[in-house]
Amino acid sequence: MPFTPFHMGLGIFTKALLQGSFSLMIFGWAQIVMDIQPLWVLITGEGHLHGFSHTYLGGTLLALFSAVTGKYLSEFGLRLLGMSQGGRTITIRWTVTVGSAFIGTFSHVALDSLMHSDLQPFYPLSVDNPFLALLSVEAIHKLCLYSGLIGAAVYFWVQQRLARRDRIQF
Ligand SMILES: [Zn+2]
Repeated sequence: MPFTPFHMGLGIFTKALLQGSFSLMIFGWAQIVMDIQPLWVLITGEGHLHGFSHTYLGGTLLALFSAVTGKYLSEFGLRLLGMSQGGRTITIRWTVTVGSAFIGTFSHVALDSLMHSDLQPFYPLSVDNPFLALLSVEAIHKLCLYSGLIGAAVYFWVQQRLARRDRIQF
């Protein structure tokens, strides 16, 4: 679904688990990149709504695209905001960038394939969607909302503990 904020719930939850090894910015950028095709179809009324972008093969290509563009866009954004770490400009490691982009596009395909009948996640190997309606739309929305809320709480709790530990050490 174009630009649904629900995808971000899983991203926030993953951020809580992986902390500095995951970039929520790259993940979010991948969500936008994924939904450019459906948005274009909605605007023009032409083409396959989810189409190739919402397959695991398409998601792989879009993850690579999101990783490369997202790394430089995010670093540029951080520089514009004047954010730095230890007096140096922040760079996002390639492993973090690529990992976050893949988590972004694959979780997007997985989530959307539960909801949309036109999705063919394993195209061109298969045109079936075995995941359709495994969960109700309401259950999916709740899952995304709660994982986002729990993720945010856990993330800030861990950050606070880390800050406290640093204060004790130094
Ligand atoms: Zn989508």
